[in-house]
Amino acid sequence: MNRPTIFLDLEQTIIDDWFSGNGINHGIIRGIFDTLGFEKNEVVDVEIFSWAIENMDDVEHFVFFMANRLEFEFNIRIVRIHTVQDVLREAGLFMNRFLDLDDQLLLGKERIFLEFCRATQRRDIALIDDVASNLTLTNEAGFSFRTINPLKF
Ligand SMILES: [Mg+2]
Repeated sequence: MNRPTIFLDLEQTIIDDWFSGNGINHGIIRGIFDTLGFEKNEVVDVEIFSWAIENMDDVEHFVFFMANRLEFEFNIRIVRIHTVQDVLREAGLFMNRFLDLDDQLLLGKERIFLEFCRATQRRDIALIDDVASNLTLTNEAGFSFRTINPLKF
């Protein structure tokens, strides 16, 4: 079974909130990994895809206060941390001068994630996010896109 590249949201998905940073939903998250084809004790590579991380200052905060502990708690390896700025730029959404950052985020996370995956030519991906719908999109070219809501899993 092909396993997708995993993208993880932070707040209300694997931590309670940005300031406390307490891990939550451990069993649910491992259960989702399980259905995506990962072994029980396997260290899962993940990319962080969270609107809590707007810029490099937030990346530093996350790495300093949370990253190692969350890797240990969830048995994951954080291989990349995306910032909102990078995501919107890579998705081709950053240059819209008529929309400010908050307006652009109103496009919705699934839509922005989809544009990001298309633009960066990702083929087999799954985003686990508490504001996403449970959604699967595939096409004949092998593109497989999933969003999974841990609170509705
Ligand atoms: Mg969230």
